[in-house]
Amino acid sequence: MKNKPPVGFIGLGIMGMAMAKNAKKAGYEVSVFNRSEPRRREAEKAGLRVVSSASALADVSDALIVMVTDPSAVRDVLTGHQGLLRANVAGKTLIQTSTLDEPSTLEFAKEAHAKKMFFLDCPVTGSKKQVEEAALILLAGGDDALIEKWKPFLLSMGKSIVHAGDIGKGTALKLCMNLIVAQMTTALCESVALAKAQNLAPKKIFDVLAQSPALGCGYFKIKEKALLEQQFAPAFSLRNMLKDVRFMDQAGKNHRLPLPVTQAVRFLMEAAVTDGYGDEDLTSVIKVLRPSTNPSV
Ligand code: NAP
Repeated sequence: MKNKPPVGFIGLGIMGMAMAKNAKKAGYEVSVFNRSEPRRREAEKAGLRVVSSASALADVSDALIVMVTDPSAVRDVLTGHQGLLRANVAGKTLIQTSTLDEPSTLEFAKEAHAKKMFFLDCPVTGSKKQVEEAALILLAGGDDALIEKWKPFLLSMGKSIVHAGDIGKGTALKLCMNLIVAQMTTALCESVALAKAQNLAPKKIFDVLAQSPALGCGYFKIKEKALLEQQFAPAFSLRNMLKDVRFMDQAGKNHRLPLPVTQAVRFLMEAAVTDGYGDEDLTSVIKVLRPSTNPSV
């Protein structure tokens, strides 16, 4: 593709805003739409062209990235009032990057195809830091030629693309990756909670991790500050991770595969969301790991 085509972004949260900025930095003509006003204003300040609806965005873009919360948010932006699929989208490409479950992804692909729109299932791995550095790993499900066509655009937001298989398999792979993230997070939080219960400084855990080639890893390093300094501003919200853990749990059930640790993680995250920590970083699960006041526990 010689000339860069016009592209659009729907959903300007932690991920979508940074992706749109990176595409603009790479020279794309970027237009954006966000449901609510504050993020639209922020986008304007960043020099992005803001349009008034998802369908208006479809009118001016050849490829449209959707990066919103969950299947019901994708439903709203596709077929809700002034939704994307209400525009003339024939020949355009929908790149669905929100983390969903596989059945919803297949359903949205079917609806896009019915409007003669191309569809790429393309969730991403990486969080706030990686998206800001255009270092995401894109997990693509769909046609080879379509991925190839949009590769330069996708790589304006990330460092590599893994082709997982057909539509739906990008999403399936994303849930496998987030299963690891969810369990690493809760493992680290339980470890810190156990250190505190034993009157041991949690910093010692990170000192050991830093010296261990096997156990020390980038993810634990990223979460060190949050846990030691109790800073829970979201890089990835607990509510969004709980959504994904529920999708994993359901995917396991659909395939008659027990996922006992994922279920335990789910209960822990549900307790933390019930206690009001859903909009904080997922490390805030540590707040529900407190010694019990019940002497029989
Ligand atoms: P976020 O900061 O909470 O942003 C969510 C976005 O979705 C906002 O733009 C929000 O618009 C929009 N939205 C929510 N419900 C909507 C609806 N009904 N109609 C229209 N727009 C709606 O979330 P995020 O962290 O960017 O995550 C976005 C997606 O990427 C999620 O699926 C998440 O699981 C996935 N993801 C996140 C990370 C991460 O580390 N943060 C990493 C990989 C993947 P408003 O401004 O109007 O609320």
